[in-house]
Amino acid sequence: MKTVVVTGGSRGIGKAVVESLAKKGYAVLLNYHTSEKEAKEIQKKLKEEGYFVEIYKADVSQKEEVKEMMEFARNKMGSIDILINNAGISQIKTFADLTEEDWDQMMQINLKSMYLTTKEILSDMLQKQEGIIINISSIWGVIGASCEVHYATAKAGVIGFTKALAKELGPSHIRVNAIAPGIIQTDMNANIGKEDTERIKQEIPLECIGKPEDIAKCVEWLVEDQYTTGQVISVDGGWGIA
Ligand code: NAP
Repeated sequence: MKTVVVTGGSRGIGKAVVESLAKKGYAVLLNYHTSEKEAKEIQKKLKEEGYFVEIYKADVSQKEEVKEMMEFARNKMGSIDILINNAGISQIKTFADLTEEDWDQMMQINLKSMYLTTKEILSDMLQKQEGIIINISSIWGVIGASCEVHYATAKAGVIGFTKALAKELGPSHIRVNAIAPGIIQTDMNANIGKEDTERIKQEIPLECIGKPEDIAKCVEWLVEDQYTTGQVISVDGGWGIA
């Protein structure tokens, strides 16, 4: 059974990824930070349906917690074949209002976390000379976003990280790709009002907001594909078409 770690698997996009990969027959470690109840519910439901899911609480921006989580994953499932770096936060603030704490927190959770998780699992993949890493970026990391400079910067960093790592790890048959979602219906966007949602829909060629399952389908495809690496796949209804 292939093994996968999904960070931020308790809600939204991560939850959809956990469900789809568990149902495809992967052994899944669902990482959560604060949503313990949700994580336990997902695990219970999937286990009742006969799928393999373990859960683990860790703040992915904290080195020791990430290390302990990966040790737990190996003990429960064996070496790690696939890493989905999904955990993230967003914040809307003008650059003028941003504090150093806002900036540091955004970088630590959305970008440094990828360094920490990848560092921890890389030896497993190098030993097997195969592996898959999928990083969740954002449309804002590709085209920039007003009032989200720190978020857009971190997500652009995810793209640089993905491309560079893909070049370095390609000879070891480890594929590294990123997905850049547009606007997806999750808690992250819960504060966008009805009027703004309608306005945004009009800007999107496919005229609708995405669902977490749309991103999970792309993850599924990237996991099964053999010849794609270093790419940033926009799953955004065409919103980011240049
Ligand atoms: P969400 O519904 O707010 O869920 C965020 C997830 O990240 C939760 O499972 C949360 O865990 C986890 N998380 C946050 N901080 C964490 C930390 N320090 N350690 C471990 N886990 C942490 O967000 P989402 O919309 O599904 O977003 C998932 C990813 O897609 C993010 O990277 C986001 O930037 C990206 N994205 C989203 C959209 C969108 O429109 N929704 C668009 C582009 C990109 P707990 O609840 O357990 O704390």
